Amino acid sequence: MPDLADLAQIQRERLDELALKSARQPAAPAATGFCLNCGEPLPDGLCWCDTDCRNDWQRRETGERPDA
Ligand SMILES: [Zn+2]
Repeated sequence: MPDLADLAQIQRERLDELALKSARQPAAPAATGFCLNCGEPLPDGLCWCDTDCRNDWQRRETGERPDA
């Protein structure tokens, strides 16, 4: 049984690494293993479930309003 505190620590370290990577490459978001929009688990290398999630995320990132 993994310790939840250990898992949280691993997750924090992983996010720190990703933050460093994305700071070096600001144009492309880092794939975290989860959809950046809705948080669904994803295969490695993917940032979003589909184009809808990507579009929603991009709207938030750019401060645009969602379509009415
Ligand atoms: Zn999603």
